[in-house]
Amino acid sequence: MTRETVEARVRAAVEAHAEEAFALLEQLVAIDSTNPDFPGIDRAAALGGEGRCTALLGRRYGELGLRCETVASDPERPNLVAVLEGSGGGRSLILNGHVDTVPPVRRETWAMADPWTPERRDGRLYGLGATDMKSGVTAAWLAVRALREAGVALAGDLLVQCVVGEEQMQHTLGTSAVLDAGFDGRRPASGGDAEPAVGAIVLEPSSSPRPLSLSTTSAGNWVFRVTVRGRATHAGNRASAIRAGGEGAALGVNAVEKGLLLVRALLELEQEWGQTRSHPAFAPGFFAINPGSFHADAGTPSPAYLADRAEFDVLAWYPPDADPEAVRGELEQHLQVAAELDPWLRVNPPAVEWLGNWPPASTAWEEPHVQALARAHERVTGDAVAAPSAANPSGFPAVTDASFLEAAGIPTVVYGPGDLRRAHAADEHVALAEIVTCAAAVALAAIDFCGLAGDDAAAGAEGAR
Ligand SMILES: [Zn+2]
Repeated sequence: MTRETVEARVRAAVEAHAEEAFALLEQLVAIDSTNPDFPGIDRAAALGGEGRCTALLGRRYGELGLRCETVASDPERPNLVAVLEGSGGGRSLILNGHVDTVPPVRRETWAMADPWTPERRDGRLYGLGATDMKSGVTAAWLAVRALREAGVALAGDLLVQCVVGEEQMQHTLGTSAVLDAGFDGRRPASGGDAEPAVGAIVLEPSSSPRPLSLSTTSAGNWVFRVTVRGRATHAGNRASAIRAGGEGAALGVNAVEKGLLLVRALLELEQEWGQTRSHPAFAPGFFAINPGSFHADAGTPSPAYLADRAEFDVLAWYPPDADPEAVRGELEQHLQVAAELDPWLRVNPPAVEWLGNWPPASTAWEEPHVQALARAHERVTGDAVAAPSAANPSGFPAVTDASFLEAAGIPTVVYGPGDLRRAHAADEHVALAEIVTCAAAVALAAIDFCGLAGDDAAAGAEGAR
């Protein structure tokens, strides 16, 4: 069988089983797999959803004859690895996707009956996780389904990682745990001696700015919490607390205003970053500072008091080539300087708590599996894939487990159905056609990169026998 015949069979099988994949996506969306450690979530109630997803996927990969392994650093949050063993001598490809979701944005803003009751309309599927990223998890399954249906025997291993915890950067429970357990593509299931080359595809939603963009770069981010104190008093004392001739701060200080002062200072720094921070993989002005939550009160949420405590959480994006510690220092210093300009904050400085640093990711465009995927995308869609450049910024505008695959030395590209503009939003949805296109491209990339069994030039040969 020629390579062309194999590819044609695979593409036909993707089309033939698309409806089965959409049904799997509906089943996945119907499982509430909200990350149990997300802020504001009832942990006990949310626990178990991720495991129901990986159990379902385990059954579906088992039906296809894959060896299914569970990796569970936390027994209540099991990851699944499904291994399609190669015949030996080829390169290993990892397909990675997370099964957890964020909690839905405010329920009453959804037009749907329920975020966990999937609805199909106009070629789209609506529901929580439809874009981020149960459609990517589904596309990986459809790619494997088609390879099996077409009777393709790969030379290298194909490892599908369905992981937990991504939405809270819990990679030590998810992706890093799976890699540490040995599912890193470097120990060929076929038992060969040589350590094979490895590449990974993270199937996070990459359909902006163009449908199914290939993204080899993502920005880093810092998440931090700022807490400011005030002095509580009756709202009737406000004038005396703030007007000339009154009792001033000795009587009351409203922490709402002190917190807002610091938020404004950060937004000024954001303006400066918009002018001064750049990276060729990102559109000008990308590196922004998002205050995402703000709470203040005097222990009781009522305007009858001057609030004595304000707390706000911020996410700051920084360029892939920036030093994270230097970025942290700059943010901290900026807050300090802003506090120095205010008589109350000068003596009651804000407390800054650093909640997390999600490291950036960057893989060379020339990596063989990135090139294999670009060629496959072109063959499936007819659209040429341009290398990233300043004129064609292709940085992924969010963070993914690519950072942790790369930390383990595995070059990684982000490519998956769904549009990040629809993620973490009401009426989250995905265009179903993107799942089919993605699955076909990923399957062809696997053939190209892992090679076919019995293929002389197994790894990545173009135009084989
Ligand atoms: Zn995601």
